[in-house]
Amino acid sequence: MAVYRCRACGYIFDEEKEGKSIRDIDVCPRCKQPDDMFVLVVEDGTDKEADT
Ligand SMILES: [Zn+2]
Repeated sequence: MAVYRCRACGYIFDEEKEGKSIRDIDVCPRCKQPDDMFVLVVEDGTDKEADT
């Protein structure tokens, strides 16, 4: 699980709190900007997904 921040509005998307992955959303819940506005804030390497 990782934490992302929206560069447009500053919204913090915490995958663990939201219960879903950043990949599961298309737009920022607050400002409706596309999800490519999100930048990684914290990466928790303990829960690595094996998507090869
Ligand atoms: Zn936003």
